[in-house]
Amino acid sequence: MALIVQKYGGTSVGTLERIENVAEKLIGWRERGHQMVVVVSAMSGETDRLIGLAKGITPRPNPRELDVLLATGEQVTIALLCIALEKRGCPARSYTGSQVRILTDNAFNKARIQAIEAAAMQADLDAGRIVVVAGFQGVDEDGNITTLGRGGSDTTGVALAAALKADECQIYTDVDGVYTTDPRVVSEARRLDRITFEEMLEMASAGSKVLQIRSVEFAGKHNVPLRVLSTFQEGQGTLITFEEALEAEQMEKALISGIAFNRDEAKLTILGVPDRPGIAYSILGPVADANIEVDMIIQNIGRDGTTDFTFTVHRNDYERALDILRDQASRLGAREVAGDNKIAKISLVGIGMRSHAGVASKMFQVLAKESINIRMISTSEIKISVVVDEKYLELGVRALHEAFELDKAA
Ligand code: ADP
Ligand code: ASP
Ligand code: MG
Repeated sequence: MALIVQKYGGTSVGTLERIENVAEKLIGWRERGHQMVVVVSAMSGETDRLIGLAKGITPRPNPRELDVLLATGEQVTIALLCIALEKRGCPARSYTGSQVRILTDNAFNKARIQAIEAAAMQADLDAGRIVVVAGFQGVDEDGNITTLGRGGSDTTGVALAAALKADECQIYTDVDGVYTTDPRVVSEARRLDRITFEEMLEMASAGSKVLQIRSVEFAGKHNVPLRVLSTFQEGQGTLITFEEALEAEQMEKALISGIAFNRDEAKLTILGVPDRPGIAYSILGPVADANIEVDMIIQNIGRDGTTDFTFTVHRNDYERALDILRDQASRLGAREVAGDNKIAKISLVGIGMRSHAGVASKMFQVLAKESINIRMISTSEIKISVVVDEKYLELGVRALHEAFELDKAA
């Protein structure tokens, strides 16, 4: 007998029929002798619909009230799933985040989980019930409802698995695992049997939305065995694993494991700022104070006592960042501020990069052959990212996927 935490995403619970299908699957697992905890997302499109309602009133809804609203999406699915389980004679109990007591900090809309009370869930499991928990939500110490950021149900699943010391956390979604790149963009993309935590973390932070970044961080830190699988077809899915567990031979061969991309960024440049100590701080300090996250940063070599400074932010923060930058530009006596929100970032990820030179130059060569201009470059030990014009995103990803032979098994 194992204790298994399963998480079903929005598409997997998108209709009553699909919710009943999930109920059938859960009963199958229970009949095979397993204790089951299940985390569900809101029905597909529901979170977007709720955000739309709030934004129909004001572009910047009060964050606390937005969380009260968004948490209702998942509350609907936990109840419907329990009703479907009970109809089949299977004892089940639903919990909202605050009923479990998934304690978070009070950063509304992007709260972090701090602690989980496992006792009540454990008692239900011991009494033979299936425990159904609302994903994406928690409660702060003052009793306010919080949410964990888009895709946050993945993190709920992993955090529950850690708290309950589950044997495995299974993320059920609408693809049958983690692919070399988004299979909806490159049809030749190949499913990976395994990927390391490090690589998955880089893929997620570079834009692969198949797992929320925090869920991967959490699983790596707490040693939670994590697997991505399809709700709609049988299969082994993809196991997220530690590097030591990968066979040496497999690591040697695979130069690149995957390609991630992100269209959610925008680029801002401040030109002709005085080149003196403290300049980066005076530009980025106010951006950070406004709670805007910065991704890539480039400062050019100074000339004639001035320099240029470019950075990227989430596209949703573009207008606000531009306002701040204009303000700083006049304060610092900079020459000009420029911005572009039609950019995209493409990233190659792979632990094989550590031991192989030449990945970057090959990447640049492939993009050059397609006449794609590179606007920015950044690298880490196992990732190379470039910013290109958004219109070249698909072309670039497909060309790189083919050039690095990701469609062929390593
Ligand atoms: P869910 O609603 O189940 O949480 P998501 O839409 O959040 O599902 O994540 C699954 C989607 O992630 C897939 O439909 C796929 O388009 C996308 N995706 C992006 N990159 C990858 C990748 N490398 N491997 C698999 N899926 C990916
Ligand atoms: N329903 C939330 C969202 O759409 C959380 C999730 O599905 O993971 O982002
Ligand atoms: Mg998701």
